[in-house]
Amino acid sequence: MTGVAYWCERAWLPTGMASGVLVRADGAGRISDVSTVDTPPLGAHRLRGVALPGFANAHSHAFHRALRGRTHGDGGTFWTWRHAMYALADRLDPDSYLALARAAYAEMALAGVSCVGEFHYLHHAPGGRRYADPNAMGHALRQAAAEAGVRLTLLDTCYLAGGIGHDLTGTQLRFGDGTAAAWAERVTALAEDAAVASDPTTRIGAAIHSVRAVPREMLPDVVAGAGPSRPLHAHVSEQPAENEACLAAYGRTPTELLHEAGALSPRTTAVHVTHVTEQDIELLGDTNTVACFCPTTEGDLADGIGPARDLADAGCPLSLGSDQHAVVDPLLEIRALEYGERLRSNHRGRLRPEELLAAATAHGHDSLGWAGDGRIAVGAHCDLVAVRTDTPRTAGALPEQLLLAATASDVDTVVVGGRVVAREGRHETLGDVGRLLAEAIEGLWA
Ligand SMILES: [Zn+2]
Repeated sequence: MTGVAYWCERAWLPTGMASGVLVRADGAGRISDVSTVDTPPLGAHRLRGVALPGFANAHSHAFHRALRGRTHGDGGTFWTWRHAMYALADRLDPDSYLALARAAYAEMALAGVSCVGEFHYLHHAPGGRRYADPNAMGHALRQAAAEAGVRLTLLDTCYLAGGIGHDLTGTQLRFGDGTAAAWAERVTALAEDAAVASDPTTRIGAAIHSVRAVPREMLPDVVAGAGPSRPLHAHVSEQPAENEACLAAYGRTPTELLHEAGALSPRTTAVHVTHVTEQDIELLGDTNTVACFCPTTEGDLADGIGPARDLADAGCPLSLGSDQHAVVDPLLEIRALEYGERLRSNHRGRLRPEELLAAATAHGHDSLGWAGDGRIAVGAHCDLVAVRTDTPRTAGALPEQLLLAATASDVDTVVVGGRVVAREGRHETLGDVGRLLAEAIEGLWA
């Protein structure tokens, strides 16, 4: 790719909103220059509305996309929802997962996501049988992200137990590697695979599924297996039952247990952190652990509302994820994060617009191992999300407050790594994403 230039009517720069912003990208898809000029120079692509940095979807389980609109019939809880999720997991193989994940990531691309953190635990064939390549599912996800035009951090997840003191059973057998050492060996093979190692759009990270799924004595092995530099993510205190089981078994909260294992640090992301104590917040903040909220999922699954403002004040960067993809819309996640705070506190404006933007962009990219991205600044990947300001939803809004008015439907053009991947609701190479999703999902449930 040769260099390319985009002229933005308005752009949200690290210094704030600016008009007439010319962004130049080099042949590697990184921003080489940012300047302001009144009119677009010859050859520059014009982006309408407000250009935001590319969004990072910091927490995804791609296959959950096939559950959207199919789990609302019988009420229930997080735990009954999980039955439907397991029934779906049982139906997937590397080919069908490729088709589903490609469509799910293409939907993300339309919504302005330039980088996704895939919390990947569906590793093996039914019964736990290994595929010929034990990383066949991981390779399917890598190919899916590449074809959808988004960067990927594959957070390969260690999942060893069906609960504290319980073996894996049924569908869960597909998630397990037996021991933390066997998990680490498989992840090393994936990271050293020639196709992965030479792919500039993929990074390999690690994840602890939860303190329910990794026994206490194996937690330090997972931390060591992740190595000193890979991102390490974990589900933490999404449900009160997880806290109760952890306290009963270990006399510690999940956060305390992870801290004891050396798992909390700035390269670590604690996902959900919905039901945490003041002591937990202090531990997470003191270690500058990232707190990833998934507000639309947490609402959909009746999880509760986590203490975002308190965590941010304690020292945790906030990030955002769409998790089970009941909604794929970073702008709605932003709004739901702030609305959760308002509902908890009876006050408005709990997170400033620049804090909300950082949660959806810079902090997410940092937490996925793409430090410096998610900013319209020299050296970052050239990821731009042009949001229209003349739609029925956005007309009349102040550009600085667009985050509290726009939705993914208002995203006009999406640029990832200097290339246009989506324009006016269509994917540049995959076309009609609705059709792509329908084909992938209907085939699974047929
Ligand atoms: Zn999750």
